[in-house]
Amino acid sequence: MNVAIVTVGDELLVGQTVNTNAAWLAEQLTARGCTVDRITTLPDRIGEIARVVNEYHAEYDAVIVTGGLGPTPDDLTMEGVAAAVGRETVHHEAAREWLTEQGGYSADELAVGTAELPAGARMLPNEVGVAPGAVVDSIYVLPGVPAEMKAMFESVAEAFAGAEIHTRTVVADEPESALVDRLQEVRERFDVAVGSYPGETVRVKFSGTDAEAVAAAADWFGARVDRIEEED
Ligand code: ATP
Ligand code: MG
Repeated sequence: MNVAIVTVGDELLVGQTVNTNAAWLAEQLTARGCTVDRITTLPDRIGEIARVVNEYHAEYDAVIVTGGLGPTPDDLTMEGVAAAVGRETVHHEAAREWLTEQGGYSADELAVGTAELPAGARMLPNEVGVAPGAVVDSIYVLPGVPAEMKAMFESVAEAFAGAEIHTRTVVADEPESALVDRLQEVRERFDVAVGSYPGETVRVKFSGTDAEAVAAAADWFGARVDRIEEED
């Protein structure tokens, strides 16, 4: 299952907020066996959101959009997503009911637009915040506040299925350039993905759907490098 992640918010583009939502979602989706093909950050502009979500909706099995769900005028994501699928945002009775009955808000307290979702959308309750999310076709619209985004993702996580991915990481105390021959050989010997992430040491990550192959590759490699520790 190929997925695109779209994070919305001017504050992300000026470097004020670190985009932890994208990293968290990518990790969750990858662990579930999905392939994340795109992570894109967009400003709070309806036209940009509509254009990119429309393109990704056509291209990928699912699109996850986070940020800009609140009822304030700078929160334009629902309108952008609606435009992406050629619909309006409309008053959503289930969203209003959830907000007033479960959320504890009186109808007067609700800012205009909070209970509006793209026409035909399924509402996703926000268990830890206010603004509801939505599912429109295969587009999942989640809040920007990380705790709210995570809770809402968990509620739809079952939709993101694939073969479970197993990983093992070997940390080698050698320069990456010195490891080239063994990295090449382990790739040839085992049918697993091998990623190397150099820093002061080199973290070499083995991953794949076959747990035994991943373990065999990590063991083979670990026995042939100056290994300082193993993670996972
Ligand atoms: P609210 O109802 O509070 O307005 P929202 O769904 O509209 O929520 P945003 O306004 O986009 O979300 O963001 C709210 C806060 O969540 C931001 O100030 C920021 O701290 C955090 N946030 C938003 N997007 C991200 C992200 N991609 N990664 C990490 N934090 C984020
Ligand atoms: Mg907001």
